[in-house]
Amino acid sequence: MAHRLNQLRTSTLTTHDQFTSLSSTVTSSPRTPGKKLTKGDPIVTGIRLRPFLERESAIDETSAVQIFENNVICTQNSRPQIFKFTHCFDASAKNKNVYDGMIRSAVLASLQGYNTTVLAYGQTASGKSHSIFGSSCEEGILSLSIHDLITMNGNNHLKFELSFLEIYNEKVTDLLAIPTTSNEHLNQKSSTKSSTTLSFSKHARTHILNKLVPSSNTTNNSTRTLEIREHPLLGPYVPDLKYIQVKSKEDFQNVLNLGNQQRSVASTNANQRSSRSHAIFTVKISRIDLPQSTNMRLSFGLNTAHSLSNIGKHATLSSSSKKSAKQQAQDELDAQAVRLNFVDLAGSEKSQQYNGTQGKNDRFAESIHINQSLSTLRNVIDALSRQQNHIPYRDSNLTYLLKNSLGGDAKTFMLATISPSSTVIDETINTLRYAGLASTITNVPRIKTPHLRHEIDELREENARLKQELFLVKSKSMPSIHPTINKISLPRIDECIQTSFLLESSTSQEELINDEKLDTVDEEILAQIENQCRRPKRKRLSEQPLHEIAKVRQIDDTMLHRRLGTILSYVTDDFSIINDNGILVISNELNINVKMNSSSWTNALERFDRDVDINSMTKKEIVDSLNVLFDNQE
Ligand code: ADP
Ligand code: MG
Repeated sequence: MAHRLNQLRTSTLTTHDQFTSLSSTVTSSPRTPGKKLTKGDPIVTGIRLRPFLERESAIDETSAVQIFENNVICTQNSRPQIFKFTHCFDASAKNKNVYDGMIRSAVLASLQGYNTTVLAYGQTASGKSHSIFGSSCEEGILSLSIHDLITMNGNNHLKFELSFLEIYNEKVTDLLAIPTTSNEHLNQKSSTKSSTTLSFSKHARTHILNKLVPSSNTTNNSTRTLEIREHPLLGPYVPDLKYIQVKSKEDFQNVLNLGNQQRSVASTNANQRSSRSHAIFTVKISRIDLPQSTNMRLSFGLNTAHSLSNIGKHATLSSSSKKSAKQQAQDELDAQAVRLNFVDLAGSEKSQQYNGTQGKNDRFAESIHINQSLSTLRNVIDALSRQQNHIPYRDSNLTYLLKNSLGGDAKTFMLATISPSSTVIDETINTLRYAGLASTITNVPRIKTPHLRHEIDELREENARLKQELFLVKSKSMPSIHPTINKISLPRIDECIQTSFLLESSTSQEELINDEKLDTVDEEILAQIENQCRRPKRKRLSEQPLHEIAKVRQIDDTMLHRRLGTILSYVTDDFSIINDNGILVISNELNINVKMNSSSWTNALERFDRDVDINSMTKKEIVDSLNVLFDNQE
């Protein structure tokens, strides 16, 4: 294992002593040593140790697992093993601490336009569901994420839609698809409440019911198994999954309750069905204020429909034989929305723990399927961490759906939950091993803001036009500089625009920061223009930093003389350089009179070239840097 430390024999040391003594002899890293790192973002991995449950306190006197800073120390048969992770949360941590320390970054990533996945991995009863969904006493990270999303969407630029599915026995079920009877029940229930006390607004409820129960389908669809299709843009997805728009936390809570009601519990003497199924809760984030032309395409739809016609054959057109052009355009926009997924995985323990007397066959089938999903997940993690060519995503529905999140273009966060109990220390160590492996996987996240693409293009054109005008005002001539402006400014402007998912939904203070960013861009462009004006058209050797020159020719006095002359000529014409048993530099304008031998000049100029980028500085900044250089020599 990449991060695994050698097992060391110690016995009665305290955590701190234990760690101090171990860490002086052992180094650890969650990444595989010597493995070629792919450019991208590694899966962010965090470990969360839950507190003892009441029944466990009677068995264990002390925790078999301790967290010390970023290290998880497991004691198995008196042997401590240390695992190191970027984020570690001890038993005192609340969901809010986990959210603030790790998961908020996932929410921000989704607002920046990345598909993002938060995975909870660990054995049954280690705290996965507690972390994601919370409890009656504590909000879960999902609820905290929704809270932030809704708060940050002050301008209502974004639309949030939720879906909730379960994979159980390799069958995908929509947890938001209400069976007819439940629907009636819900209607009855809602009608008994006064409109003011309804936690879920009437409008939202009607919307849900309309969306969830198509009038043509009156059968009980809660058990209907959904198919997974591969969309060329979206990757694997569930075409017929219901999405419910939410505008408030109350709406969200009601959708969550609705889904949890559907997550039925099998009558066995083992654990709840929820422990043996995988649940994926998705927040689909899209822009409401689409550019006008996109709306036009939505209204008339033909061109867009054409671009979608091929992919539709495999994916979006699966449920109905033909979709209208408008629907296809909507599908395209759906495909382009950002998805923030929360995955509550089935318990990662071995299947034997499910053995019992009742319903043995059913549970055997379950455990096989659950193991299929989990063992495939492990195989995928393993194959990715070894950078193998074939990754067995298709071997299970779970890994197929998570394809983009494991080694794909999404940002992924894995929260591995562990128990403090010595009775399950083997499983705890397994969990830590797999979390360690997951941290060696690199995704290559890609911003998915096609809604903004149109705006980006327009802003880009606008930017180029404004910069050109600015340039003409400032310099009157020098059209040759124009391409330089675009080249320099556009990536910066792109950055600003790409983060607009975040910035546009933020407060006025953040808008100010954004303005400041654009001001900085202008300043830099002006500095570029000024430098371009000063610099000779043809690049000479002496314009390059000294260490570059040294690659092609020897640094002798003549070369030093020329390099000094080039630097000084950026800021003044009033200087002289004299070779006289050393090199003497004099400038009345800059108040310089320095004489040094060759090696001192070489050192000084190398330092200057290293610290100063003349090309991006104003005249005053260069003079200041020269003054520091010459002052230091005297
Ligand atoms: P899992 O989903 O991994 O099977 P649960 O989230 O259902 O496990 O947790 C099992 C039990 O432990 C639940 O009773 C839960 O309330 C409790 N629990 C889990 N994590 C914590 C925690 N961090 N703080 C307090 N109780 C917790
Ligand atoms: Mg659970």
